[in-house]
Amino acid sequence: PSTPQWLESWTPAGGARRVRTVFSRAFDGGAPDGVWFAPGRVNLIGEHTDYNAGLCLPTALPHRTYVALRAREDDVVRLVSAQAPDEPWETKLSEVAPGSVGGWGSYVAGVAWALAEAGHTVHGFDAAVDSCVPFGAGLSSSASLECAFAVAIDDVSALGLADDDAGRTELVDACRRAENEIAGAPTGGLDQSASLRCAEGRALLLDFRPGLSAVESGREVPFDPASAGLELLVVDTRAPHALVDGQYGARRAACERAAALLGLANLREIAPDGLDAALAELAPHDGDGVLARRVRHVVTETERTARFVELVSRGLVAEVGPLMTASHASLRDDYEVSCRELDLVVDTAMAAGAVGARMTGGGFGGSAIALVPRDDVERVATTVDQAFADAGLAAPAFLAAPPSAGAGAV
Ligand code: ADP
Ligand code: MG
Repeated sequence: PSTPQWLESWTPAGGARRVRTVFSRAFDGGAPDGVWFAPGRVNLIGEHTDYNAGLCLPTALPHRTYVALRAREDDVVRLVSAQAPDEPWETKLSEVAPGSVGGWGSYVAGVAWALAEAGHTVHGFDAAVDSCVPFGAGLSSSASLECAFAVAIDDVSALGLADDDAGRTELVDACRRAENEIAGAPTGGLDQSASLRCAEGRALLLDFRPGLSAVESGREVPFDPASAGLELLVVDTRAPHALVDGQYGARRAACERAAALLGLANLREIAPDGLDAALAELAPHDGDGVLARRVRHVVTETERTARFVELVSRGLVAEVGPLMTASHASLRDDYEVSCRELDLVVDTAMAAGAVGARMTGGGFGGSAIALVPRDDVERVATTVDQAFADAGLAAPAFLAAPPSAGAGAV
């Protein structure tokens, strides 16, 4: 019988102990000013909706990046990471600019750079990193790295931004700019919002309609699977991200083309009961039906997200399963961004007793989630693990994911 591999999360005390050890080994036995953390995130529903002015609903993982940091008087930044033991990293903040730095430290230096760009006074620092967020699993290790540094720098620089939601939206923006402009990865801010604005026992409803302020665009929603005897299970498929290049851009372009053909600013302007009319209007321009499928996914996905929020807000967590499974079918059949491994997790988990399951994140690999009755979790994991072995696929990794706190000090 197969033995599923669990990626355990660390307690705050355990994470702090680890990262303090990494710090003291790297910096002559010294102690940091403090330890801060930021979580990875998983999206419960609302996929490929962010660039269509739609809704999505991430929640924070108990898996976090921990940072031990000591402020410096000068503008030197020295970094070490337990996940990159052969790549200690150093720069001067005055030398950080788009295109000037590379490597993992660019995510970190980028946050300090963006805060300085926003007019804050930021000095250099020595810092150590340790993390149990897997890299490249679609769970946003990069955002958790940025956001852990954002709250650390905020604290030692006495900026006070982490003290309220409005300030945190400024930190979100600094982290997004760090990733876009300094690390050179085009991401939209969803991951950083989740890492900085989520709370324990909650999900974060993000609304990407233009015209909303940053604060208005995020709202806490109760999400407590344990209250319904359920657990959120995350499965990192470890699928090689083959053929991804260009697919994201192609989906985005199709959505923009459809909106333009319909004379709309974005696909959110199609009301759920206006979908059939919109598809009929597109038909003459859409020989193979691709645009219709893309639009149908986007419109129904935001509608499913709204219904998910309605259910969990009334405490009906056990009833969201069919929405998750419908979301997966839509991503697989209409948006065509799933893959063999993601489908295998979803089909196997459902057959083994999950109440709902879906791919999460952009697709073509990464992770899937399943909502599973507490007593069935171990069996679902074993069954999925066995299905991967039977199919000749590399073993997936499993994460237990109770909705957890956003970034902060330990
Ligand atoms: P993900 O989906 O996990 O965010 P990305 O490719 O966006 O995947 O980000 C992963 C990158 O972030 C790593 O290759 C590394 O450069 C950086 N990173 C994340 N966490 C750490 C860490 N603990 N130590 C060093 N680098 C990290
Ligand atoms: Mg990332």
